[in-house]
Amino acid sequence: AAGPADTGRRRRLGVMGGTFDPIHHGHLVAASEVAAAFGLDEVVFVPTGRPWQKSHRTVTPAEDRYLMTVIATAENPQFSVSRIDIDRGGPTYTTDTLRDLRELNPDTDLFFITGADALAQILTWRDADELFSLAHFIGVTRPGHILHDPGLPEGGVSLVEVPALAISSTDCRARVAKGAPVWYLVPDGVVRYIDKRQLYRGE
Ligand code: ATP
Ligand code: MG
Repeated sequence: AAGPADTGRRRRLGVMGGTFDPIHHGHLVAASEVAAAFGLDEVVFVPTGRPWQKSHRTVTPAEDRYLMTVIATAENPQFSVSRIDIDRGGPTYTTDTLRDLRELNPDTDLFFITGADALAQILTWRDADELFSLAHFIGVTRPGHILHDPGLPEGGVSLVEVPALAISSTDCRARVAKGAPVWYLVPDGVVRYIDKRQLYRGE
């Protein structure tokens, strides 16, 4: 495929932020669909450091979530994983993520991909106004949530219908805890990693 250098157009980078505890096929399908629909050159998955919205529960160590994200995306040449939020330390704020990615990727337009549930919250995020100047936002459908423009500045958000996968990390964790299978909900390598590291057993 022609790269940005050949075409003279700016590089288009998708950003998929998440706790990925664990990463599942809902995340992967969303990224893949948006990449195709928006002609993205790459999608970078960015596992959170300590997610500020989830301080009420114990999140799996960042290294485990990072490795599962690498395992899940390794085969796709368009997908990559960034450690920026993990290595920054402290709670993760999406403005920091996008600012850092802008600095690391000059001449690049950023497209922040988010499910309907997270999009509905977005105006409550820190520095919400600045967010929309850093990236274009793409809200994707998610079973159990209504996808709507939460009132972002004109042209700041696009809404995209993706194949409905009623999968959540919460449900995957609960399944592992009760001995139910997560095969086909998460990539095979992630099933094996969860087993190898004995994640989610005592929840
Ligand atoms: P948890 O249940 O722990 O909150 P989750 O399944 O919601 O996990 P997150 O890591 O919180 O996964 O989500 C990262 C991003 O992926 C969010 O923008 C979320 O809306 C989106 N997302 C998660 N699951 C799906 C899905 N099945 N379909 C579409 N988008 C999804
Ligand atoms: Mg979530």
